[in-house]
Amino acid sequence: MTDFVVVGGGIAGLSAAAHLAPHGSVTLLEMEQSLAFHTTGRSAALFVVNYGGEGSRPLALASQPFFESPPEGSVDAALLADRGALWIADHTQLERLHAIADEGHRSGAGSELVDADGVLDLVPRMRQERIAAGLYEPSARDIDVAALHQAFVRMARRDAADIRLSSPVTHLTRLANGWRVSTPNGSLDCSAVVNASGAWGDLVAAMAGIRPIGLEPMRRTAFMVPGDRAFADWPMVVDVDHNFYFRPDGVQLLCSLAEETPSEPMDPRPAMEDVALAIERINQATTLDIRTVNSQWTGLRTFAPDRDLVIGEDPTAPGFFWLVGQGGTGIMTSPAYGALVASQVLGTGLPEALANAGVDPATTAPDRFRV
Ligand SMILES: Cc1cc2nc3c(=O)[nH]c(=O)nc-3n(C[C@H](O)[C@H](O)[C@H](O)COP(=O)(O)OP(=O)(O)OC[C@H]3O[C@@H](n4cnc5c(N)ncnc54)[C@H](O)[C@@H]3O)c2cc1C
Repeated sequence: MTDFVVVGGGIAGLSAAAHLAPHGSVTLLEMEQSLAFHTTGRSAALFVVNYGGEGSRPLALASQPFFESPPEGSVDAALLADRGALWIADHTQLERLHAIADEGHRSGAGSELVDADGVLDLVPRMRQERIAAGLYEPSARDIDVAALHQAFVRMARRDAADIRLSSPVTHLTRLANGWRVSTPNGSLDCSAVVNASGAWGDLVAAMAGIRPIGLEPMRRTAFMVPGDRAFADWPMVVDVDHNFYFRPDGVQLLCSLAEETPSEPMDPRPAMEDVALAIERINQATTLDIRTVNSQWTGLRTFAPDRDLVIGEDPTAPGFFWLVGQGGTGIMTSPAYGALVASQVLGTGLPEALANAGVDPATTAPDRFRV
């Protein structure tokens, strides 16, 4: 018997476990032999407020205090490093650029429009003739994702959470006052289950006889190419139509086609044509002349039908809590959504810090798919 079972050892499951562990016994079940093996280990690691759905933006803002001042003993070094984000547009993309600027203004992102010269000042290797304007968000920062995930592991373990690897959940049975969670190694009874299984979210719900949300895992490939120390201060550069992005990462550049290709839940591998197309587009927009790829990987960004997060108790299944649909914002929103789902499981009401940041649990509630 345990109070709470969390399914999934990515950033979502660990944040939920870290926030629940001070309030009861927690067992986290991860099917792989290591934590963060799937999407969490494959992100571009950026904190940027002007990105994602209406529900995720206040969660990003509400996560900022955790990033800037994590709990004592949870980290060995800073979780954030200065970066900045720069959306770029050619003359055909200006309408889109202004729409993103408006969204940023509404979200409190603190971004500013810059002209072509301003873009070139920030990233001198852009091709001048392809730039009409840009939108610069100086407060965007790099996240140390491994350290963040490890911070949640430390917080959960400090409060005696039991983290089990190689433990795939295979079935969930509804009990009078909770759930029986079955794995090949045995079963566990608990009062509440948190489904943080990423791309597998609907499959885990189906094991409990619960209707799917309609989650759609989407492939996105990233790769590293040789860079230069001189690029270190560049912001992340994002094409406004998401045709590509790149940012410095040490002496390399992390690049992506920013593609969204539907996939089954799986361990996806990069497709050479996606990498080649991204290189072609980045070379057309810059004078970088990329010719070599150092490493490459693909992850699944999983979206609900309205592309916002799904956080909360399923109205058809008491004690079954969803924590899925993080799409492309699941790292930067993780401190706040862990606190949110824990407050829902515990029934303690919305934490004041989340309310002050504008978090509205109705925006992300699973109820919106149950009408
Ligand atoms: C290329 C790329 C760039 C990205 N860039 C950013 C970014 O800059 N900023 C940002 O915030 N986000 C970014 N993201 C998104 C972010 O990585 C995800 O939103 C986040 O990692 C999702 O975390 P998760 O814990 O839900 O999923 P996962 O990390 O996939 O974890 C789910 C876990 O559940 C486990 N599981 C599944 N089924 C079972 C079962 N039956 N039993 C037990 N365990 C199970 C899986 O093995 C897995 O470990 C990016 C993603 C990609 C791919």
